[in-house]
Amino acid sequence: MTQSSTSSPLHIARVVVNLSLDRLFDYHIPDSLQDQVHIGSMVVVPFGQSTRNAYVMELGNHSEFGELKDITSVVGDRALITEKLLELGDWMADYYCCTREQCIQVLLPAVIRSQKVKKKKRKLVTLTSVKTVEDDAERIKVRAPKQADILIILKTHGPTFLSDLTRKWNLSASAVKGLEAKSLVIVEDETDERNPFDQFNVLPSEPLALTSEQTIVMEQVRAAVNAEQRQTILLWGVTGSGKTEIYLQAIAMRLAEGEESIVLVPEIALTPQTVERFRSRFGDQVSVMHSQLSDGERFDEWTKINEGRVKIVVGARSALFAPFRNLGLIIVDEEHEGSYKQDKVPRYHARDIAVVRGKKENAAVILGSATPSLESFYNVTQKKYVLSRMMKRVDDQKMPAMEVVDMAGEAAAHGQPQIISSRLISETRKALDNGEQAIFFLNRRGYATHMQCLKCNFIAECKNCSMNMTYHKKDDILTCHICGESQKAPTSCPECRDPEIKFGGLGTQKIEAVVKGIFSDARVLRMDSDTMTRKDSYRDALGAFRAGSVDILIGTQMIAKGLHFPNVTLVGIIFADLSLNMPDFRAGERTFQLLVQVAGRAGRGELPGKVVVQTYTPFHSVIGHALKQDYQGFYDEEIEARKLLNMPPFSRMAIVQFRGESQSLVHDHSQAFHEFIQHYVSDHCTLIPPLPCTILKKRGKFFYQIMMYSENIQQLSRSLKRAITDFKCHRDVAISVDIDPLSML
Ligand SMILES: [Zn+2]
Ligand SMILES: [Zn+2]
Repeated sequence: MTQSSTSSPLHIARVVVNLSLDRLFDYHIPDSLQDQVHIGSMVVVPFGQSTRNAYVMELGNHSEFGELKDITSVVGDRALITEKLLELGDWMADYYCCTREQCIQVLLPAVIRSQKVKKKKRKLVTLTSVKTVEDDAERIKVRAPKQADILIILKTHGPTFLSDLTRKWNLSASAVKGLEAKSLVIVEDETDERNPFDQFNVLPSEPLALTSEQTIVMEQVRAAVNAEQRQTILLWGVTGSGKTEIYLQAIAMRLAEGEESIVLVPEIALTPQTVERFRSRFGDQVSVMHSQLSDGERFDEWTKINEGRVKIVVGARSALFAPFRNLGLIIVDEEHEGSYKQDKVPRYHARDIAVVRGKKENAAVILGSATPSLESFYNVTQKKYVLSRMMKRVDDQKMPAMEVVDMAGEAAAHGQPQIISSRLISETRKALDNGEQAIFFLNRRGYATHMQCLKCNFIAECKNCSMNMTYHKKDDILTCHICGESQKAPTSCPECRDPEIKFGGLGTQKIEAVVKGIFSDARVLRMDSDTMTRKDSYRDALGAFRAGSVDILIGTQMIAKGLHFPNVTLVGIIFADLSLNMPDFRAGERTFQLLVQVAGRAGRGELPGKVVVQTYTPFHSVIGHALKQDYQGFYDEEIEARKLLNMPPFSRMAIVQFRGESQSLVHDHSQAFHEFIQHYVSDHCTLIPPLPCTILKKRGKFFYQIMMYSENIQQLSRSLKRAITDFKCHRDVAISVDIDPLSML
């Protein structure tokens, strides 16, 4: 079947049905629906004994099947998925070793697929005649005083929603009906859009004058856009170098040509502060997409994009699939961020797919970061991306001075391990005395990471997961950070009844308690996912900090990203080794990125910044490079190591994971699959025999995995798909594939 030109109407649609069958079905388009069925339309079709939603992938005039059933109905009056996005979905299904249906689930938000939310309609009441309104009111005043009131309200306020008349003015709907019967008012359904910006007043902003570095970068952006095949730029700019202004002016440039732009930011950095910067420059042309939107808001934002009423979308990962039809630019801010990778099927990486979408739709792509991922920087050396650099902070502010404190030495000096070093205490005291603010960073929430009996060595472990329970002091409970299982903390050892049960390991709650003890005069606020549970708590907390009603902010990586506080002069990194000790080849890269990002929070205003890094491994080279803010030095060393070990980006990686409630069954099937797949993959592929995952048990299920390395990941992905289809797997064992995995756990 071809997508031939439409001299005669195409009356056969090839669709995917929303069951993960990974194949196409032909349906006949009845004459009555002929004008409404397009490629990318969502349709309802008879399937088996019932009906199903389906998506039109192709149109044609011939089918190899005989009698075809009719499409029952079409959803919406235009295609919900653009043809280019359908192509991208196919590409993803192939690359990420999953089905087309699974990819359609990311192309189209659930709220659109489910059709449960509709455009919000409200009844709008309008005067039939403004000229005669006073006479009319006078005439009916005696017999229908309420109706007369309504006429006067409409005269003063103009067309008004019926719900407002009843709520604000306490008038009845029947009074409005009475007026309608007298033909004095008209009542009509109007679309009322939910506005996620309702509560914000944004002042308009003008483009800023560019620094010399920014000017050069804008020239490179212009060249990337003017190239016949538009290019991908890696914008490596130190924290505070003014990357956002580049984004804004690049978008303005596309807007002037009538082209659309997508801006991706990590969910955690998608603060009102970030959104405001785009709204203040581009006003109502900006749509926003993130996980905090209500279904209604999400529906309206997406519909605005699909109907071409906005030109810019700012959002988290999923905003990449905004149904723009004239896309000119995609920006991925903080491109190194792990949160761009989706952790369920399809396990796509939004940064990588941004580059693919850019290629397919000939849009320029800007990947921005102060600490680019090894993969992206490597792509520059391979001439796949253009490198733009901004090494100075705007207004020539100095990078913060970084200083390392050896916590082993600190422990020796005090006779026991310390949580806050004397150096950090004295620097904090200095900042507080000057009326300045400090940020303390520890990437682990809770009070203590484990509860241990010193007598029998019992450690409180989750019954569903191979994981220590974390102690949360506020509620006096032990919680599992994987499955959420909670229990009251015991007062004595459950094994030997010894009362000497101890808490070990640090969490943000503990830091909070210690800091409050040392600086009793300081106002302290903790920000982590335990305290930030309400929809607005994040905004409120940052607002309080910015307003100066908090002196010390303690937090997890929630506070590491993109925030700009001019009065912060000190950043304390409590335990820099935490991410360094993870069993993952990217542990060094993540630690470097985190340290540099957090340090970048210091000295963003007139005042110079200082960073105190507490560590037990002060001579570790990653910490050394981070102290000097030396990305190039870090990259050169790290890329050599990866090359030596043939790790990504030198090879590409896939993980096949097996999970189930019976450990022996999971183990046996991973062994069997390892044998089985040998016949499917080429010699260029390296297979590691199955191993139990680092966290063997999660939520009551056991996990084993096979790691694979190959130069040609697309070939590997295709072989894997065939092998999994052919492999006879026990129904109590589930198999999943992760291509380019970010987590080795
Ligand atoms: Zn015990
Ligand atoms: Zn658990």
